[in-house]
Amino acid sequence: MSDTTAAPVIDIANLSYAYGRKDAVHDLSLSVAPGRCYGLFGRNGAGKTTTMRCLLNLLRPRGGRVRMFGLDPAQHEVEVKRRIAFVPDAVAFYPWMTVRETLDYVASFRSRWNRDTERDLLKRFRLDESQKTGALSRGQRTQVALIAAICPEPELLLLDEPTSGLDPIVRREFIETVIGAYQDADPANRTIFVSTHLIAEFEGLIDEFTIMDEGRAVLSLEADRARERYQRIRARFAGPAPELALAGALRVRRHERELDVLASSDTARLLDEIRGSSPESCSTESLSLEEVFVAALQ
Ligand code: ATP
Repeated sequence: MSDTTAAPVIDIANLSYAYGRKDAVHDLSLSVAPGRCYGLFGRNGAGKTTTMRCLLNLLRPRGGRVRMFGLDPAQHEVEVKRRIAFVPDAVAFYPWMTVRETLDYVASFRSRWNRDTERDLLKRFRLDESQKTGALSRGQRTQVALIAAICPEPELLLLDEPTSGLDPIVRREFIETVIGAYQDADPANRTIFVSTHLIAEFEGLIDEFTIMDEGRAVLSLEADRARERYQRIRARFAGPAPELALAGALRVRRHERELDVLASSDTARLLDEIRGSSPESCSTESLSLEEVFVAALQ
């Protein structure tokens, strides 16, 4: 269980960043409580990586501020980095080092390193410790980076598109087993901030999310609230589906005898309106987070 009233692990207030004149992040605010798995969702170019880079003090915000554990990462870089691990979307290691040497090298900078976790993950990913990292595939390099991120048991794991180079089996393994196990070991103190557009893969892990579009937050919600709020109504009629006003619906599709309606508010009123036309059947279901993402960006 996480304590959402505790001081946030990440606190972003009115963050803005531009590359030259090009706005990449604009007036973004969000906060992540300890123990949460927080998703930063957005299409390509939405501003996710730029936001991560501002958190990591790789970019200086043009406006607003970021705090990690209540600290300014620009002023307390070592203190902040000691408590986090980051897996970037493109991973690079010294190519002449083997997997073993790479992990030992990374471990030498860390005050903690869980050798059992390391052994377990090397086995799960079927990595050969004696292989040079320069000879690894992109997905295998990501696997080594994930091991290097999880073994120090950081308080905060920052993941930028962590599964993009991984095959489907390793992806599922990674998300369900590796990430789950990382958080389960100390749920109140292990926080994940993950940027992805592969939302379906994280559906079961995400507690809360922000959807970004063109550098701005379009929607920030708890995952359960999103599933409660975003509903699909399906109705089937004896004859052709009637043309109803259905004001406030996000999307209405009529196909022969079927009516398919997406709603994010006023679902009860829309249901009444549909039922007023005496459908043969009528049901509602929650949207998945991926469907919420698509609906929010329509
Ligand atoms: P993706 O999912 O494709 O990785 P993203 O959401 O991480 O995308 P960013 O990489 O943060 O998006 O990019 C946000 C915007 O900033 C994009 O329009 C991108 O073209 C622009 N941008 C990113 N890096 C640079 C750069 N080094 N110089 C100029 N513009 C950049």
